[in-house]
Amino acid sequence: MAEYRPATPDQAEFLAELTGHGLLVETGVPGVYGRSGVFERVREGFDSLVTRVAAPDRLRFPPILPREHFEASGYLKSFPHLAGTIFAFEGSEANAAEQQERASRHEAWDEFQSMTDLVLLPAACYPVYPAIAKRPPLAKGGLTVDAGGAYVFRHEPSGDPARLQMFHQREMVRFGEPETVADWRNAWRDRAVDILGRVGLSPKLEVASDPFFGRAGRMLAANQREQELKFEVLIDIAGPEPTAVASFNYHRDHFTGVFGIDMADDGPAHTACLGFGLERITLGLFRTHGLDPATWPAEVGRELWP
Ligand code: ZN
Repeated sequence: MAEYRPATPDQAEFLAELTGHGLLVETGVPGVYGRSGVFERVREGFDSLVTRVAAPDRLRFPPILPREHFEASGYLKSFPHLAGTIFAFEGSEANAAEQQERASRHEAWDEFQSMTDLVLLPAACYPVYPAIAKRPPLAKGGLTVDAGGAYVFRHEPSGDPARLQMFHQREMVRFGEPETVADWRNAWRDRAVDILGRVGLSPKLEVASDPFFGRAGRMLAANQREQELKFEVLIDIAGPEPTAVASFNYHRDHFTGVFGIDMADDGPAHTACLGFGLERITLGLFRTHGLDPATWPAEVGRELWP
């Protein structure tokens, strides 16, 4: 079982306000909520604000990933604790009856389940690399892909309403020469701080690291920080510390090496991606401006719903 992280008093109070106003609908599982129309209107408003600023090539995928691509990506080495894999029934009619019988008593029925060729999408950029690998080598200057706001899964149950098990990650991916990719990431880092400021949030930019698994993971995290491969933009929501709402990641040639993506005249391409955590930004907006968007400052409304 993944370790459940209980809410702090502030987080519990904010969650009670959100569910009390019907903005989030509890399902009984921590970190999994239904959302009201008002919540979705705010989330979609911010998503379209990013689209208006960006508008590169669009590619969209469902929130599942072929297991083969997942296995090649190295995710299980770095984040085995966060992954979600899809199993499905395989067996006889007798097995099916036994499975139903046990499930109806809420007893273990996993022995009738087999691994499928699919896993839950861990990050919105993952399907983009194998898709670009199918294209001819990249022309000078590379390319930018808008991977949209896909639902992604992280197995980390928590009482903090800002730490969801399934949430929308608005991602963009840059492919190109190392300096092109690094410049793009740096430009977007500053642009993200600007966009979040435009909707009345007070973002802070920090060098960050991923939540790598285990003792070896602590070394990876230290290297990542030292080489400034990851930045995060943080805002205050309901946590004792600010919450990351956007991240900017320079992968160097990791994904292009795994999937075989080259520049037409200059060896392997590099990649970077950026992701906005749409629910966290939405929650930050409710926390900052109040639970009723009709009372929000006019300039914030103009940015979200022009
Ligand atoms: Zn990514």
